Amino acid sequence: MATYVMKSKEIPVVREVDVLVAGGGYAGFGAAICAARNGAKVLLVEQQSALGGLVTMGYVALTFSYIEGIGYELFHALKMCGAVKGRFLDLEKTKVVLEQMLLKENVEILYGTSVTDAIVENGILTGAVIFNKSGFQAVRAKCSVDASGDGDLAAYAGVPFESGCPELNNYNQASSLVMHVGNVDTENMPRNLQALWLESIKAAVEAKEYPYMIDKRVNWLARVPGRDPRHAEYYICYTHSRNCRCLDAFDLTRQLIEQRQQCQWTIDFMRKNLTGFTNSWLISSAPLLGVRESRRIMCEYKITGDDLVDNARFPDAVARAMHQFDAHHPTEPGHIKHIIRKDAEGNEVKCYVNPGQWREIPYRALVTKNIDNLLVAGRNVSSDFMGQSGVRLVLECLNMGQAAGTAAAMSVKENVTPRNLDVQKLRQQLVDQGVDLFHEPQFGQSGVSPQTKLTPNDLLFPEQNKSGQASVVLTPEAYAKYRLDVEAIEAEAMKKYMSKHGYTDTGGDVGTNLE
Ligand SMILES: Cc1cc2nc3c(=O)[nH]c(=O)nc-3n(C[C@H](O)[C@H](O)[C@H](O)COP(=O)(O)OP(=O)(O)OC[C@H]3O[C@@H](n4cnc5c(N)ncnc54)[C@H](O)[C@@H]3O)c2cc1C
Repeated sequence: MATYVMKSKEIPVVREVDVLVAGGGYAGFGAAICAARNGAKVLLVEQQSALGGLVTMGYVALTFSYIEGIGYELFHALKMCGAVKGRFLDLEKTKVVLEQMLLKENVEILYGTSVTDAIVENGILTGAVIFNKSGFQAVRAKCSVDASGDGDLAAYAGVPFESGCPELNNYNQASSLVMHVGNVDTENMPRNLQALWLESIKAAVEAKEYPYMIDKRVNWLARVPGRDPRHAEYYICYTHSRNCRCLDAFDLTRQLIEQRQQCQWTIDFMRKNLTGFTNSWLISSAPLLGVRESRRIMCEYKITGDDLVDNARFPDAVARAMHQFDAHHPTEPGHIKHIIRKDAEGNEVKCYVNPGQWREIPYRALVTKNIDNLLVAGRNVSSDFMGQSGVRLVLECLNMGQAAGTAAAMSVKENVTPRNLDVQKLRQQLVDQGVDLFHEPQFGQSGVSPQTKLTPNDLLFPEQNKSGQASVVLTPEAYAKYRLDVEAIEAEAMKKYMSKHGYTDTGGDVGTNLE
């Protein structure tokens, strides 16, 4: 391929901050708010026009995994605004809540801005080059968190990374373009929707009504809260592109074009085959293509599929993961839900993740190899292909963000690199902020009353909120009111909750561990 050498040019340093967060998805949001709460001056740089990343811009309107720490606060704030029911989100309200929570902590947000290069001096990341309407600019930062989902900042800094499935030509997980569908008559929806979909799509493909099988089953339908049930709105995840190269802009464009057409086939299919959808229409496809996996940035520890099967525990755990393997097959319809291991006789055995258990995420999986003053959080976490598939859930990304942001602020305050930060001190700080690392997760209860009802009077500093949206920090009195006496929960009831709500399955479970 021919090459061209870009001219070097002098660019303005527009900000000097303690912590730079690259990317404003759930991981970046968690990192920014927690860095600010731990005393850092924070700038969050986001390519798109809203916070939330794949959730708000990719229409992933159902946020799975364990709710604690900043996730706990977020759920309560969303509840107050009528923006969440179970796990289903109103995405426009979610964007506002995320923004207001950051502004309240004086995090500076910069939209429409891409991180395009890393400034590295003597093995230390000291800032980033960004690009936006004003042209190229630089930001100086004492510490940075790469929450870009694609590990852009870390890759530009020269941190090694992996991408794709090594057994399948390094193709990435299949991508999806989520659909927003309106005018659904929920009262007439088929009860056995999943089974009916499976059957009808197979028949339609065999009858050559559609050119190929997009996927075997509809992945999920997330109902927008607060709509008339006879004219409901859903976010629907069904379309897929395979053989994806999610770091190649030309291939990403191919995926978008392909799936925009699949959206038309899918709405057509639903109108024809599924009662309740007869008069529905496609409002829009997501502005952001649903990339599940691209760069996995290599850190001091790599989370593996084996860790998930073995319910790994770590002395430096900073977050918990609750999901099973969920790799959307890179080259053919379907999912990969297991890894293969050899038993004592050398036979190959399929191994699955235990749905009633949880796994820990070690701090080392967030601390980049080779380059100092840089952490990662979110779906670009240090992991192998199958490991990433089980820790990429929205609230896991958020919790990693909480850990990375807190660590970044602490390392700036203590003038040590994130690598040299006292991890037990970090863990205690996370515990103090509501991440209950020293106890088993309490599925179904989470130590929080299921009857949570917040009023503006329960909140601290509502007047600091910039747009009149309810602010989100509970007063200590209100917090005490909402906590349950967990000692009183019978052991048997706990066991029941463990098996019932102990994991999240994108196939159907929409309960939360708050309920
Ligand atoms: C189709 C689909 C369905 C899913 N379904 C579920 C589900 O049902 N439940 C669940 O819990 N999880 C689900 N997931 C997984 C989950 O949505 C993601 O793994 C999670 O949201 C990732 O969060 P993140 O913050 O790490 O990354 P992202 O949400 O990708 O956020 C990264 C942000 O960084 C920005 N960015 C990227 N590059 C740059 C740059 N160079 N400079 C500045 N900004 C940049 C992006 O615009 C984006 O806002 C799904 C994912 C997909 C794709």
